[in-house]
Amino acid sequence: MGRLSRFLLAVAFTVAGGCKALEAPENSATPVTAQSATITLTRLDCGSALIKDFDAFFSDRPGLYPKGPRQITDSCYLIRHGDQQMIWDTGFAAGLKGQSKDLGPLVIHLDTTLAEQLAQVGLKPADIDIVGISHMHSDHTGQAAEFPAATLLIGKQDFEKSAGKDDPFGPWRGAGKSVTLLTTDQDVFGDGSVVALHLPGHTPDHLALLVNLKSGPVLLTGDLYHSAMAREKRGVPPFNTSREETLASMDRFEALAKKIGAKVIIQHEPADIAKLPAFPKAAK
Ligand SMILES: [Zn+2]
Repeated sequence: MGRLSRFLLAVAFTVAGGCKALEAPENSATPVTAQSATITLTRLDCGSALIKDFDAFFSDRPGLYPKGPRQITDSCYLIRHGDQQMIWDTGFAAGLKGQSKDLGPLVIHLDTTLAEQLAQVGLKPADIDIVGISHMHSDHTGQAAEFPAATLLIGKQDFEKSAGKDDPFGPWRGAGKSVTLLTTDQDVFGDGSVVALHLPGHTPDHLALLVNLKSGPVLLTGDLYHSAMAREKRGVPPFNTSREETLASMDRFEALAKKIGAKVIIQHEPADIAKLPAFPKAAK
């Protein structure tokens, strides 16, 4: 690991006060400079959902949010690192394409698949080297199996708990499969440019993603927050593994975001669509 990535990881850890057996930087005055590989970030459409009662669905403390219906996005991301390609989250299953499905408290919808959008930027599913999954919920795992040749990057317990019926990670079960299971932060490409952040609580080993673009750092929240209101109010949903861990992860995330001056993108927040260029354009 180079000095730059050591420094960057040290920032990611020490800012949040998490001590996870990472070595100290050789020289904490080392500036964070542009990486050698060109990094781009493209927003992909992985569906949408109409939440029939936003407050009831998203708050474990009724009355935190306005009642009534509200639309959310389901977004995925393409990160290009030189000639390596990474997908972050995989949305609803491709079989939903062109349809809406009423699941009771919400109606989910998908217009286009990841494979279709990748084709528009000259990529095939087989070109994807890494599929990173923020957490095990089905609105993030639906199209993972479309990339069986990729290395799967996911929180350890989220992977383990997904085994069994409707397993979205079938291609990665068994001996010799390419899976990276995280219980701590991970420098994805080894140069500090993309860092998976271990922010447990929403699920046992939930992850967010730091992408260090030339134009500045971007943080993709996973579902640490489901909305801008949740970030403002530190709202925790009823479907959540540990309230205490979630709040601690929010503290760590906010300290890092402030320290590095990151642009924060809440993946389900429609208001955050405009924070990145419209597809197929990429942020650089
Ligand atoms: Zn979600």
